[in-house]
Parts: sequence; C-alpha cells; structure tokens
Amino acid sequence: PPRQVLAYASPLRNQQGAVVVMHDVTEIRRLERVRRDFVANVSHELRTPVSIIRANAETLLDGAIEKPEIARRFLDAQLRSADRLAALVADLLEISRIEAGTYEMSPDEIELEPIVAHTIDEVERLAQEKHIEITSSVAEDMTVWADEQALEQVLLNLIDNAVKYTPAEGKIRVRAARRGDMVRIEVEDNGPGIEPRHRARVFERFYRVDKGRSREVGGTGLGLAIVKHLAEAMKGQVGVEPAEPHGSIFWLTLPAASD
Ligand code: ADP
Repeated sequence: PPRQVLAYASPLRNQQGAVVVMHDVTEIRRLERVRRDFVANVSHELRTPVSIIRANAETLLDGAIEKPEIARRFLDAQLRSADRLAALVADLLEISRIEAGTYEMSPDEIELEPIVAHTIDEVERLAQEKHIEITSSVAEDMTVWADEQALEQVLLNLIDNAVKYTPAEGKIRVRAARRGDMVRIEVEDNGPGIEPRHRARVFERFYRVDKGRSREVGGTGLGLAIVKHLAEAMKGQVGVEPAEPHGSIFWLTLPAASD
C-alpha cells in the first residue's frame, strides 16, 4: 500500500519526517481499527434486541397469542428489548454528539449539592426497591465550573451504576472535596468492586466486566464512556479505585469555581 512506501522512502530524505510519517501510519491504522470495532459492536448490540422482538412476534403469530399467560411473557420481553434499543440509540446519539463536537457546553459556576440531591432523587425508586441507602455529604457551599446538563448526566451515570451493580442492602456514598484548583467528587459503593485488570478498561465503549450482568440491569455499555468524554470536555478527569473492604470508588475531578 502507498502509505508503507511513504514511510520507507522518507528516511532517505529526512530522519525527523520519517518518524512523523511512521507514527501517522500507526495512528491511522489504530483509528481505523477502533472505528471498525465500534461499528461491529454497535451492529451486534442492535441486532440482539431486534431479533428478540422479531422472534417473539413470530411466536405470538404462530399461536402463542391464544394463550394469554404465555403471550404476556413474550410481549414483556419485546417491551424490554424495545427499551434496550431506545437506551442504546440515546447513548449512541450522545456519544456521537460529543465526538462530533456539537455538544454545546456552556460552563458556569454550579452549586454541587442541589445537583447531587436531585440526581439521587432520580435513582431513588430503584434504590428503594433494592433497599440501598444513598447518602450525600457534599458541602452546601461547594461549587464547580461545569456545564450543568453534562454534570448532571455524569453524576447520574455514576450513581445509577452504583445502584445497578451493588447488591440489595448496599450502601452508596457521594462526597466532594476541594483539591487545589479542582474539586474531587466521589461515588463509593460497597458492591462487588472491579478487578484491577478491568479497571482502566471500563471507560471504553462497550467494555463490560460481565456482559450478562450488564444486560440484566439494562446497561448499554456506553455509560462510562460518556462519563469520560463529558468529564474531559469540562477539563476534568475520571477514574475508579477499590473501596474498603469491597466495592468501587468512581471519582471525577472538575475545575473549582474560583472564589
Ligand atoms: P453498562 O451499561 O454496562 O453499565 P457502563 O459503561 O456504565 O456500561 O459500565 C461499564 C462496566 O463497568 C459495567 O458493565 C460493569 O461491568 C462495570 N461497572 C460500572 N460501574 C460499576 C460499579 N459501581 N460496580 C461494579 N462494576 C461496575
């Protein structure tokens, strides 16, 4: 392929230029592979719920519709698959909006405590069903420099994950502390935690520690990728550390609002 020839020919002319060209070839290949993997993943993820919807419709038409108690089960599975599809499409749109740079960020000085409280309210129902207690100890005067909607999305994804992956009777704590120019927000759960070899990778698109578990709780595999993208767009960082004696601490840093 011509690109390889280029990489070969360059050293004769200019040593420095060659390094740049070779690097470009590797980078182009890497990006092509990332894009191919992503399209393959998306196709696979979309295909599963579509085939469930289709197969169940067929079974219903083949006669299952005559038996209400069976029909209900098939329809229920269809509904769940349709919800999965909707969640996937919403997350995909979100990712592509962020990557295309069309996600409009309007950073402002934001009070953290009300947003955390509001986000906890959003997951309260699921938390109550599982008898999970969520407590927040964010100081009332803590402010960050962030886009309000993006911050809400990031917090929701982290707290929602904590609720989804923590077993019944679990505990979730949200806290925030000033660290120099930044504010570090932590969402700690006492769930199963994430093994070291998976830790760096959970922020990749479609990376799941346990595929079955993720599907069961209605995950799309894109939540943490969105978190990372949004956090970085707000000049922050994200990460995950083990909690003691077990569980995860997902953390997020954001610029402190200057005062
Ligand atoms: P999903 O839609 O599968 O939840 P995410 O990107 O939000 O996708 O998370 C990626 C994976 O990271 C999950 O599938 C799960 O395996 C793991 N994970 C995320 N949050 C937690 C948590 N609080 N505790 C344990 N595992 C988690």
